[in-house]
Amino acid sequence: MLKKKNIIILGSTGSIGTQTIEVIAKYPGLFQVIGLAANSRFDLLARQIKQFKPRMVCTGDQAAGLAGMDGPGAKFKLVKGPQGLKQLAALPGAGMVVNALVGSAGLEPTLAAIRAGHDVALANKETLVAGGSLVMQAVKKNRVRLLPIDSEHVALHQCLDGRDAKTVKNLILTASGGPFRNHSIKQLTRVRSRHALNHPTWSMGQKVTIDSATLMNKGLEMIEAHYLFGIPPERIKIVIHPESIIHSMVEFNDGSIIAQLSTPDMRLPIQYALTHPQRLPSLVKDCRLDELGKLTFHKPDRMTFKCLDLAYLALKRGGVIPAVMNAANEIAVQAFLEGRIGFLQIPELISGVMKKHQAAMVRSVADVVSADHSARLMAQDDLTSFRPNKH
Ligand code: NAD
Ligand code: MG
Repeated sequence: MLKKKNIIILGSTGSIGTQTIEVIAKYPGLFQVIGLAANSRFDLLARQIKQFKPRMVCTGDQAAGLAGMDGPGAKFKLVKGPQGLKQLAALPGAGMVVNALVGSAGLEPTLAAIRAGHDVALANKETLVAGGSLVMQAVKKNRVRLLPIDSEHVALHQCLDGRDAKTVKNLILTASGGPFRNHSIKQLTRVRSRHALNHPTWSMGQKVTIDSATLMNKGLEMIEAHYLFGIPPERIKIVIHPESIIHSMVEFNDGSIIAQLSTPDMRLPIQYALTHPQRLPSLVKDCRLDELGKLTFHKPDRMTFKCLDLAYLALKRGGVIPAVMNAANEIAVQAFLEGRIGFLQIPELISGVMKKHQAAMVRSVADVVSADHSARLMAQDDLTSFRPNKH
């Protein structure tokens, strides 16, 4: 039997956050929510507070009020901003911190949770892209568990399942290919954010949806897999699999490939992380292969979707460069969503910043935070010379 676990959810009103709450609500005897953080949909956050009665709540510095619930007599401690997120992540008594924030803003709260001795269930892949080596060192030092929520990494975790890393030949990450997988460069010049936000197999937050359309998502996941499983980038392969039924695979030295399959639904990988090492019935529909008929695979078009190679390059250059790439991507995605740049200018902007930025070493989180900051400034500066659909 599982012991009741105290959970903190960072990003509770987002796509992963709300699905985490669905999983928790299915097993009320197993989980107690003691902390919530969000910076959007405050009406929903207020309802979550009523439902779970957490001890601490964090909102952004400039957040709107919580329908009077945060006034005198509030039953929870309200904290704010980046400091507040760290304080919440380190709240004593937590059994697991679910990090479902977006962007590199998730790095410091993750480190705070680990240093407080809490296990972490990580959806926020940008944490590992920006500070992978620091996070993995902290996990080892503090003897906590870091469980992925990203479906590909949950698949790899199951395929590896304690097997000897020396027997692994390749990790094979699957990618849906996003909404534009058959588009030519010419077609991509006309793409707008409303097209990119229409993902064929997954319904997700805006940032990860755009990342899926550019394939930067797969690049970020390659870096995430490198840190989580200690496999060098040249042995992490990408295959396009539009049906999103195989969530990833491991190829072993004898030629066997082990895959994990399921209906695409994030509530399954979320539950896996929350209940590991136990397996319990989930909210996910059965996967009927006989109804699907066929699964297809092909190579990614790296000439058209340049973000993939940028991620391999970032890891090869090392030091702060993955953090730099990630920060420039965050700025580029936001600019694309605002209609300030075209789709093909996303990799152009990122690549320009990566070329200019120094590949300093990462000795502490301050090195990552400072590289993240300077890369954002460079990207903002470069943006002023971009015009939509110039390429
Ligand atoms: P989202 O935009 O839907 O949700 C983000 C949440 O974080 C929201 O609740 C938002 O209010 C909160 N937040 C953002 N900044 C905050 C701050 N400063 N303080 C407090 N709260 C803050 O994003 P999402 O799609 O749920 O993605 C979350 C992470 O999970 C991303 O890193 C994404 O790449 C990863 N991921 C998402 C999916 C998916 O299906 N959505 C799948 C795999 C991985
Ligand atoms: Mg994923």
